[in-house]
Order: sequence, then structure tokens, then C-alpha cells
Amino acid sequence: MIYKNKIIDGRYHAKIILDDLANQIKSFKKEHNITPKLAVIIIGNDPASQIYVRNKASNAKSIGLEADIIALDEKVTKKELIKIIQDLNKNPLIHGIIVQLPLPNHINALDITSIISPTKDVDGFNPINVGKLHNGDLSGLFPCTPLGIIYLLKHYLGNLTGKHAVIIGRSQIVGKPVSALLLQENCTVTICHSNTKDLKSITQQADIVVSAVGKPQFFGPEYFNSHSTIIDVGINRLETYDKARLVGDIDFEKVISKASFITPVPGGIGPMTIAFLLSNTLKAAKNLV
Ligand code: NAD
Repeated sequence: MIYKNKIIDGRYHAKIILDDLANQIKSFKKEHNITPKLAVIIIGNDPASQIYVRNKASNAKSIGLEADIIALDEKVTKKELIKIIQDLNKNPLIHGIIVQLPLPNHINALDITSIISPTKDVDGFNPINVGKLHNGDLSGLFPCTPLGIIYLLKHYLGNLTGKHAVIIGRSQIVGKPVSALLLQENCTVTICHSNTKDLKSITQQADIVVSAVGKPQFFGPEYFNSHSTIIDVGINRLETYDKARLVGDIDFEKVISKASFITPVPGGIGPMTIAFLLSNTLKAAKNLV
């Protein structure tokens, strides 16, 4: 492909991180006689969530971690779920806990992520870890997708100081935490969302654009200047007349000629998210010994 050198290959970088983690886990086991273990709670039968959870567990096992999937019926009550999490919080054999989102409508996600012990909160959603993120306290566990984004940006752009980063989306999972991390890298950060006026005039000024919107191929070349590095977090199912495929928020084929660097979907940020989930699990295990 003509533009191959512009594509940020998340699978390649995730593999490097996973290989390094596998070595670190081997040494950790040898030194402490402990195998770090991740508990993944999934509620209901959402097919996309089932795939994400299986991927997380199989990647964990492939590098020497243990992973338990706890599958719960979608009618599980909030009280029952809280009890399960509290038991996992107390269990010394469990080092990391995640609850796969989205949750059924009768359970508020923030109520649940807040009760995961901050030391086992490998998704980084507990308010203690959110506070540490904003304070720049590196002892915290921080959200995995934003950690993956910062890793790639540093790899491709080097020092990020002074760069103008425009974040589209203000979710707790991506938009807000990636903004905090980019601020710590001395970027000038602009956060945009569904109520932002004249978004195009803002993204056109950016050195870095991170899109976490969830709208298939929503942003075309007119949104970017010719030196933008574009991180596409969106994972959207696009139905065409004969098949369905996954695409990002960015109209990749039309935008790539204009971008300096761009992440594809799939194969961009997705694999990095899993790599940093497992990195957080090892960090949690190290903090607990
Ligand atoms: P969300 O669904 O919670 O929020 C979407 C955000 O986009 C909101 O802040 C909203 O204000 C903003 N938005 C919506 N329409 C907009 C518009 N027209 N202009 C500007 N802003 C607009 O977001 P989320 O949970 O961060 O997920 C976003 C996307 O990222 C989804 O496709 C999700 O599947 C994907 N995602 C991928 C990964 C990964 O590992 N690759 C991780 C998390 C989320």
C-alpha cells in the first residue's frame, strides 16, 4: 500500500508489549511464587462484549497470567453484583478485577466501578484512581485505552510537549482520561463533544486528534490539516448490502493521504487496550506483594 508508512500498527506494538510482559511475569512468578490473576465479570449475552471478554482472557493466558471469567445472568441484581465484587476484593488470589461494560439498564456503571478496590481496579475507573490520574500520582491504575494511545503517540511523535491535542468525546473511559494524560505530557488540550460548535475549525488546528465518538466513518479529510496524527478509538459496525464490518470514526481511506500518521480500525487502538489491561494487572499484582 502506498501509505503504509503512515499506518500505526497497533497489533505490532501490542505484541512487543505482551512479549515484554510475558518475561516480567515469568520473573515475578519465580521471585514471589505467585501467578497474577485477573477476574473478568460479564453480565448478559451481548455478542460484542462476549468477544471482548474472551479476547482479554485468552491474551492474559498467553502471557502467563490467570484469568477467570465470571458470567452472570442479565437479571442479576445490583446487590448480588456488589457482593460478588466485594468477595473478589477480599480474595488474595485475585489481583485485578474488571466489569465488562455496558451493564444492563437497572445497574448504574459508576455505582459498580466505584466499589472495585482501587488496588485491583485495572480499568482505572474507581474515583481514587481517577483522582490520582488528575493529580499525576503514578501509583494509580489508569484507564487502558488512554495508556495505549499515549504509548503510540510517544513512539511516533517523540516528545509531545507543546503539541495541540484535540480530543473528540468526553467519556470516562477514553475522552477525559486521555485528556488528563496528554496534559501531563505538556500538550495543549482541547476537549470537544456533541455540543461543540464548529468542530471542524478546531480539529483543523490540531497536531493530534483523538476521536472517541462511536459514529462510523464520520470524519472526512476536511476535518484535518496535513500534519495531523489521528488516533481513531471508535469501533463501529458498518452494515453494507452483503456484509458487516468494523470501522472507526474516521473515514480511513479518504483521510490517510492527508494524515501524518493514523490508526486503522481494526488493528489500531483495540489491541493496545488489551495490552495495557494486562500491564495494569501485573502492576496491581506487584503493588499487592
Ligand atoms: P461514549 O459513547 O460514552 O461517548 C461518545 C462521545 O462522543 C460523547 O462524549 C459525545 O459528546 C461525543 N459525540 C457524539 N457525537 C458527536 C459529534 N457529532 N461531534 C462531537 N462529539 C460527539 O464514548 P466511548 O465509550 O468513549 O466510546 C466511543 C467509541 O470508542 C465507541 O465506538 C466505542 O466502541 C469505542 N471504544 C473503543 C475502545 C478500544 O479499545 N478501541 C475502548 C473504548 C471505547
